[in-house]
Amino acid sequence: MNDRRAPSPHDTTADAGQGNVADSMSAQTRLVHVGRHPRQQHGMVNTPVYRASTVLYPNLAAYLNHDQEFEYGRRGTPSSRAVEDVITSLENGAGTRLTPSGLSAISCALMSVVGAGDELLVSDSIYEPTRIFCNGYLARMGVTTRYYDPGIGAGIAELLTPATRAVMMESPGSLTFEIQDLPAIADALRGRDISILIDNTWATPLFYRPLELGADIVVHAGTKMFVGHSDAMFGTITANRSHWDRVKTTHGDMGLCAGADDCFLAARGLRTLAIRMKEFNTRALDMARWLEEQAPVRRVLHPGLASHPGHAIFKRDFSGGGCTFSFALPKGPEEAIHALFDGMELFGIGVSWGGYESLIILPQFTNNRTVTSLPEDEQLVRLHIGLEEPDDLKADLKKGLERYRTFLD
Ligand SMILES: *Cc1c(COP(=O)(O)O)cnc(C)c1O
Repeated sequence: MNDRRAPSPHDTTADAGQGNVADSMSAQTRLVHVGRHPRQQHGMVNTPVYRASTVLYPNLAAYLNHDQEFEYGRRGTPSSRAVEDVITSLENGAGTRLTPSGLSAISCALMSVVGAGDELLVSDSIYEPTRIFCNGYLARMGVTTRYYDPGIGAGIAELLTPATRAVMMESPGSLTFEIQDLPAIADALRGRDISILIDNTWATPLFYRPLELGADIVVHAGTKMFVGHSDAMFGTITANRSHWDRVKTTHGDMGLCAGADDCFLAARGLRTLAIRMKEFNTRALDMARWLEEQAPVRRVLHPGLASHPGHAIFKRDFSGGGCTFSFALPKGPEEAIHALFDGMELFGIGVSWGGYESLIILPQFTNNRTVTSLPEDEQLVRLHIGLEEPDDLKADLKKGLERYRTFLD
């Protein structure tokens, strides 16, 4: 029925450790076993890097009937299938396709549900390159995008027109961390031909499973938590049964595929995702709580905090959180933020996140808010909390905050 290729757990020919994992097993166990078939790889634990364009057929009949699992490198290899099976299993979807980046997963997913004359609703807190794709490419193709307040919930019903075909969500937003009420949005759209897409990069399917809450398509920047070591670009698209055919077709039509080495790195990263997420969840929340107590921090934007406006929904729908969050400082002179950033010893200044090393960036909001706004008198800073000793990170941040404070009156 679904596209998972793991052998059935009842297959009597399969040995222990062969990737024959029941759907009922926990996500942590599936992360370790799904997508690995050591008996097909001479006993090797990990599925190797299959570099391929051409795949040979044993005879003309096999070629004409397309009756082998792999036919051409772009259309899948054991290296890509290994990753697809893990994500499909974790997201509880009908199938998964891989892309060379998170952004290409988003653009492909959007192109699979909208066309000329359609209207798309997008959260105002969306990842900025997603907004640029909607306002640029999709607009040129005749798709109208309108933005909505991420706190809208059931109120989304008021924005619908007969042309509305899709809603693109991201919960929480990756700079400002607003939580969206996916079940309320799904309820408001029920019975209409409107697809719900969601970017689930932050929480990962270990902590949030949008397809079970009413979404149709889930995308990931696998670049972040799946790869997990800041050394590859990767994207995934997982769809439910009603959306799987169009995702598979659009992905195929666009000629997208992920490189074999990157598939290997993603598959390897996924094996330890559960233990990394558990650790990141604890560390980031602990650091967020600590920052709430530090001067001159004004507020901390982490949905796991009781002070966060989305906390109740977060507690209801998520079982944990990711490794990034933001905090707000009272706006100071320009030198203040340079002094904070440039003196950091452990936090690197760089975009992306999800690796083992801590990062700090300055979110900028020049063109990326249309229906919501942020306080003018605040300076936001986003952190990715890495795997260094938390006390060392706190000492680094404390010194940074002191540098900032010397510039405030
Ligand atoms: C990084 C990121 C993306 C884009 O992923 P790339 O692999 O950089 O293209 C999309 N969504 C979110 C939430 C991200 O953090």
